[in-house]
Amino acid sequence: MQIIIFGSPGVGKGTQAKILAAKLNIPHISTGDILREAIKNQTELGKKAKEIVDRGELVPDDIMGGIVKETLSNPRCSSGFILDGYPRTINQAKILEEIFKTIKKEKHFLIKLDADDEIIIDRLTNRLVCSKCGNILNKSEVKENFSCPVCNSSNSYAKRADDDESVIRRRLKVYHETTAPVFDFYKDKAEIIEIDGSLNIEMVTDEILKQLK
Ligand code: AMP
Repeated sequence: MQIIIFGSPGVGKGTQAKILAAKLNIPHISTGDILREAIKNQTELGKKAKEIVDRGELVPDDIMGGIVKETLSNPRCSSGFILDGYPRTINQAKILEEIFKTIKKEKHFLIKLDADDEIIIDRLTNRLVCSKCGNILNKSEVKENFSCPVCNSSNSYAKRADDDESVIRRRLKVYHETTAPVFDFYKDKAEIIEIDGSLNIEMVTDEILKQLK
């Protein structure tokens, strides 16, 4: 099953993608995670991407297209995948359609999550991420000398560099101006599932699974 999970930063794409990947037994491909890993390891890609990601802007389409093509062509994606954070521009969507043709995976679902910007800003300014396993928690859940409930690492929760309020506002502006129009591109190309992303995590998952069936 090929799934694109779509929506603004902080709407819950990553959280839902992780849950769905485990339930459907398909890999979760997050372009944001791929970039953050490259930045951490200071690879050539990481060096090119760091400042762009820190500013909340978009990494150029040709770089992203190459990463996605290589990733989706890997045999581990042969029985499907859930793609999170891509495409973010119409041009990326066109590149993805070509990739789908090449890997012979033309049927896909697009799950769109929606929530108001004020909810998003509140979620992202209070979000902490485990630096070891990527699990996400609200600041209020992380106590002193805290161990990650997923991977057990201690004191591993930190704010993402781009979860600073001015950067969040820039990411939302980029989303509304450049990424939101990508949804129209898919109206006649994918099976669309639209979900209210302001609901709690379990309710969003249940709704998605109900509509995927
Ligand atoms: P995310 O984790 O999806 O919120 O992505 C974090 C950041 O990585 C974004 O704000 C962009 O700077 C960059 N990024 C991730 N995916 C893409 C993409 N498809 N195109 C361009 N930049 C991206």
